[in-house]
Amino acid sequence: MLSEVPSQERKEKGPYAVIECPEKIPCDPCVGACPQGAIAIPESMVELPEIDYDKCTGCLVCIPRCPGLAIFVIDETPEDHALVYIPYEFIPRPQKGDTALGLDREGKERCEVTIQKIIDSPKFDHCAVVGFSVPKNLCHDIRFIKLKN
Ligand code: SF4
Ligand code: SF4
Repeated sequence: MLSEVPSQERKEKGPYAVIECPEKIPCDPCVGACPQGAIAIPESMVELPEIDYDKCTGCLVCIPRCPGLAIFVIDETPEDHALVYIPYEFIPRPQKGDTALGLDREGKERCEVTIQKIIDSPKFDHCAVVGFSVPKNLCHDIRFIKLKN
């Protein structure tokens, strides 16, 4: 299920998380992962999590803590592109400056992206966070990358 996105006013303030849980299952590591207390699951643990965009700082911490690889961070503040941050478990990791193909939720190639940031910490249990630039109009569509090499 696709998450709500924040208001235009909030988007202009900086990066924000989006949660795209595919189904209702008993799962909640995202709630404890957020240092700002921005993620909550209303009522029952099987409900889908919600984000309080007044609290979310776009810090990326929740991305590798989701076992379902369902959390992304979007930054629409750069003037000529947007940044999308995704969980990435494959080896080898991409490198900053690499170009790759941007894939949508169905795995369809939609555009070329440029890798801007890789966070690969042992604290993240083998899940890196990869950030890449995309055309602004595709930041809500591109959810994975395919390395060219
Ligand atoms: S990006 Fe950071 S502040 Fe926002 S929900 Fe995730 S952990 Fe919390
Ligand atoms: S940890 Fe991931 S899969 Fe589990 S409820 Fe949170 S966002 Fe959904």
